[in-house]
Amino acid sequence: MIPLADARRKALGICPPPRAARIPVTDALGCVLAEPATAAVAVPPFANSAMDGYALRAADAPGTLEVVGRVLAGSTARPEVGPGQAVRIMTGAPVPPGADAVCMVELTKPDGDRRVHIEAAVAPGDNIRPAGDDVPPGGTVVDAGTLIGATQLAALLSAGVAEVTAYLRPRLGVLSTGDELVDAGQPLGPAQIYDSNRPMLMALAGEAGCVAVDLGRAPDEEVALTARIEGALAGIDVMVLSGGVSVGDVDLVKVVLDRLGGGTAEWLQIAIRPAKPFSCAVLRDPAGRAVPAFGLPGNPVSSAVSFELLVRPAVLGMAGQQVTGRPRVQATAAGDLRRRPDGRLHFARVRLERGGPTGWRAVPLRGQGSHQIGSLAGAHGLALVPDGDGVAEGGAVEVLVTDLSVLGLPSGEG
Ligand code: AMP
Ligand code: MG
Repeated sequence: MIPLADARRKALGICPPPRAARIPVTDALGCVLAEPATAAVAVPPFANSAMDGYALRAADAPGTLEVVGRVLAGSTARPEVGPGQAVRIMTGAPVPPGADAVCMVELTKPDGDRRVHIEAAVAPGDNIRPAGDDVPPGGTVVDAGTLIGATQLAALLSAGVAEVTAYLRPRLGVLSTGDELVDAGQPLGPAQIYDSNRPMLMALAGEAGCVAVDLGRAPDEEVALTARIEGALAGIDVMVLSGGVSVGDVDLVKVVLDRLGGGTAEWLQIAIRPAKPFSCAVLRDPAGRAVPAFGLPGNPVSSAVSFELLVRPAVLGMAGQQVTGRPRVQATAAGDLRRRPDGRLHFARVRLERGGPTGWRAVPLRGQGSHQIGSLAGAHGLALVPDGDGVAEGGAVEVLVTDLSVLGLPSGEG
């Protein structure tokens, strides 16, 4: 058995560096910027009103002013504001020439159709958003290394950025293997189970910055499995396979990866539980491009944990993401996390609650078998239970947080 850190190094080691390209900004959602994006236009592009009110000369307020025009958002009217004059203005409308401030409408009173009474003093610049006060022209809107989400997209669009240099999201193909598998929606025959790993791994791939590609299912048969793998390589950047990496009679994934990998394949026994067996190899598409492939065990929890611990950091790196780890919290075991010594680091599914001396309590979930995906679905994280006899209730335990929604839990003992 090899330590987890060594296995992770191998997984990272077979992945190519992130690939940057010039892409339309609207395609960049979920991508990491490879170069800073600079503003094509100032934001805002022109001085405009922050309020509905009256544009005026600050020196004239308070007082009664002559209303000489009106500007709406989007309007190109440029009525000049002279001494003793005001222009009715709406939020976002360009400040008319001559005005140096805006008085909000709530502090004014109309006086007939052509006059307004300004009730408060106004300072120059009040309620005016100067051109470029958010982003100056040519200024950096979003830095290199930033993951583009909704708000970054908005900032880029507001600055007139049409294209960005971003790392392309790796296309991650998922192939499940197993004669017993049936797709969702089909009736189960004798000895059959639903293929839950393929959709799960595709979803995990999407969460890890990849574009998931469904490669379907392959039978436990060498020729067909080989053909499925080879046929998929041209359309993907990385492959994840589920099943067939253990020591069963038809565990052929490790065999086929070994043959296709031309000496690069590894079949590892990792000193962890679940997810001990793992295989990986560098395959080549017909053009000779390297495509890393990862063979994950078929037991659903093992599959998920392998992805979490080994594949996720590797593909986040391929996507150019800088943070490839998960937060960890120190918790108090709210129940026994007993185990037997076996030379392996155990990952126990736990729910997290606020409380205890460190601020977190880890509640062990029932059903810790590697086939029991139900308990993983209810887990907030994986408690690291080191080799030995485990951690008794009340003991200290470190938890890898996989569900960040726990950060929204109310804090304190309450
Ligand atoms: P394997 O790793 O192929 O030996 O499979 C180990 C266990 O995981 C067996 O009980 C399989 O039936 C189950 N399994 C394999 N592939 C899947 C899958 N795609 N979805 C759900 N369970 C699976
Ligand atoms: Mg199998």
